[in-house]
Amino acid sequence: MKELAGILELTEEEKAWREGPLSVPLRITGHYLSLIDPTDSSDPLRRQVVPTCRENMTSGTESADPLEEVSHSHGERLIHRYANRVAFLATDICPMYCRHCFRRRFTGNMTGPATEAEIESAALYIKAHPEIREMLLTGGDPLTLSDAMLDSMIGAFRKTSPSLIIRICTRYPVSQPSRITRELVDMIKRHDSAPFFLMTQFNHPREITPESIRAVSLFVDAGIPAMNQSVLLRRVNDDADVLEELCNRLVFCRIKPYYLFQGDMVSGTSGFRVPLKRGMEIERELRRRLSGLAMPVYAADLPDGGGKVPLCGSYIISSPDKEKGSWQFRTPEGGTRIVEDPQF
Ligand code: SF4
Repeated sequence: MKELAGILELTEEEKAWREGPLSVPLRITGHYLSLIDPTDSSDPLRRQVVPTCRENMTSGTESADPLEEVSHSHGERLIHRYANRVAFLATDICPMYCRHCFRRRFTGNMTGPATEAEIESAALYIKAHPEIREMLLTGGDPLTLSDAMLDSMIGAFRKTSPSLIIRICTRYPVSQPSRITRELVDMIKRHDSAPFFLMTQFNHPREITPESIRAVSLFVDAGIPAMNQSVLLRRVNDDADVLEELCNRLVFCRIKPYYLFQGDMVSGTSGFRVPLKRGMEIERELRRRLSGLAMPVYAADLPDGGGKVPLCGSYIISSPDKEKGSWQFRTPEGGTRIVEDPQF
């Protein structure tokens, strides 16, 4: 924090932050720091990476692991919460730590990359469960590993499950796009027995820079589609104008806006959570303004491991009864329409 105080004029709330069991480490990349307006203490990019003392508080409804990842884990690194997919925690390290990180029970503990034994055991588990079709390579940020380490990790999974679809979940295009090189993408492409997807996390349009566009383009040009998962964050992007610009710009950069997540009930993150009612208002407004291609799914991961549910108001006013086979709908503009159901 001392070093940061030499670059940004810190607020009292920022100065009062203490690293503790509820927090992730303080680390901001030079690239991201260069995007922050040093004169604006409420800059939406600054809020994502500069901690405040709010992070040291927790409420009774929050917990370290609301998604119950630990109870769905097989070993330290493999989470099997949905039948058809798993998450493998390649490392707990990130080049920059987001203050809203939902996996803070694990992220930044400095345990480092998964061991060979952990990788092998996860690969054998996946092989023994043919219902698993996809794996999220996540963490932490898996791209903190060297190309050689990633090559060997991906190779181990491909060797036992050549048809496994792999999602590479990374914030590097936002935090340090120079990490993404042609050599990295070429190495990934050598494991092309099944598709890869790049999963990014852009939360604000100002995070889309020429460098980040170049980084994502390397993947997309190589045939690896890019999908974005934003988090709805208070005083960062809880505004239809901001999200409209973000989503439209993402599509223009060939990144599909995939999810807009409601903040999970994770200890120390209450300062970022947007009330559900407000989130749903924003979702309705976005649905009115954006094309289907640009529209993300607003969703919540339910507590106690309840799984993901879409959060959108219903457009059905009334469903058909026995006599009338017609449905009544509300339009996004607030009008009503009748649909005669041909199967009735
Ligand atoms: S990049 Fe992902 S894992 Fe790392 S701190 Fe941010 S949200 Fe957490």
